[in-house]
Amino acid sequence: MSEKLDVAPQGADATTPKRECGACTACCTVMGVAELKKKNYQRCCYLTDRCSIYESRPQGCRIWSCNWLLGMVEGDERRRPDNLGLMFTNELKGDKVILTAYEVWDGAAQQPQARYLLDKLQEKWPVCLVFTSNKFIILWPNPEQRAQLAELVAKHALVE
Ligand code: SF4
Ligand code: SF4
Repeated sequence: MSEKLDVAPQGADATTPKRECGACTACCTVMGVAELKKKNYQRCCYLTDRCSIYESRPQGCRIWSCNWLLGMVEGDERRRPDNLGLMFTNELKGDKVILTAYEVWDGAAQQPQARYLLDKLQEKWPVCLVFTSNKFIILWPNPEQRAQLAELVAKHALVE
């Protein structure tokens, strides 16, 4: 892989507006939680309209935030995962941190607002787009780097 290939965007800075999850609970279905033996795309058994065990939720839930909440996705609440249909996070795959976009519902990545953002992002960074089937593709113009990144992501399996 070219050493010039940038990977995921860096963290929020002091100018990042404070954001709140509000009505969003996307990650409680999309993300696996090891302590709960919950797989990706499996709705958490503690999820009602919100977390029903919030005060005693596992550490994995406490320390994790999506990139929108961290202020690493530009835009307003229309880009919150439950509205946009994509949930972004940076994932460590081997020695690379890969910008990863999880579809919140089937077909969400094909919607115009999601497509627009994915197109903008891949001008700067490769994006691993994960579908609700847990299959993924790499979005990046350079075919050789795309194949290398796909191999890297496949080798470091998605949390299931
Ligand atoms: S996906 Fe992001 S905005 Fe939605 S509940 Fe999880 S951390 Fe909050
Ligand atoms: S325990 Fe609560 S915060 Fe963690 S995934 Fe389940 S509903 Fe979400």
